[in-house]
Amino acid sequence: MKIDIITLFPDFFNGFKEHSIIGRAIKNGKLELVTHNLRNQAKDNYGSVDDHPYGGGPGMVLRFDILLNALNEVKAKLKSESPSSYKVILMTPQGQVYKQTIAQKLAREENLILICGHYEGFDERIRDYVDMEISIGDYVLTGGELAAMVITDSIARLLPGVLGDDTSSHEESHSPSTSSGSARLLEYPQYTRPLEYDAKKVPEILTGGNHAKIDEWRKEQSIERTKMRRPDMISDKNI
Ligand code: SAM
Repeated sequence: MKIDIITLFPDFFNGFKEHSIIGRAIKNGKLELVTHNLRNQAKDNYGSVDDHPYGGGPGMVLRFDILLNALNEVKAKLKSESPSSYKVILMTPQGQVYKQTIAQKLAREENLILICGHYEGFDERIRDYVDMEISIGDYVLTGGELAAMVITDSIARLLPGVLGDDTSSHEESHSPSTSSGSARLLEYPQYTRPLEYDAKKVPEILTGGNHAKIDEWRKEQSIERTKMRRPDMISDKNI
């Protein structure tokens, strides 16, 4: 998958692109991440990309012509690579709230173009050129870069071959796990060595070697945990 990110701050992505699972996914060719500097679209020598809002008010707004030219440039390059599908997504606190189900849908696309706002946001007219608007939660960030990283990270780990074991992304919170009959629940508790520390022991069932019993215990734990922590996730359909 290729993800193009239109941003005023491409350097924000440097560490993100280099480390851990995302770094490896890029090195192994499972993910291509290209940043496009919005500043390159500036028409003056000052690199201006924003202006005061019409009608007055605080802050600066990213200009429509600058955003659209950047988007068209990315699209033109993509066209020459002829992807079978792509989606343009605007990062905004006014968008659809991001969830694992959206990550799973987006992971099936061949290309994504993510547009990061900054300052007070962007000129409203750019909304007519995007397929989706995503918010990563009901709070306001200074820019869309963190949101773009959240989306990229959550999608990348769903791509085949990115995690050491592809089933890791099945048996976890918010994913339809096979052990719980495709329900979306929180994951069961996990333990590792030492077996006992500070008088806290690992549940005996996990060390007994009976895998059918372990599966059953985990399923129960998942349901109980979800009921306690996220009752909003529980429905008849979900358990
Ligand atoms: N004035 C805008 C409003 O009230 O809707 C907020 C602008 S915010 C300070 C600047 C940029 O950060 C936004 O254009 C968007 O790209 C990004 N951003 C802020 N919060 C976000 C969120 N929760 N999810 C996704 N992007 C967000």
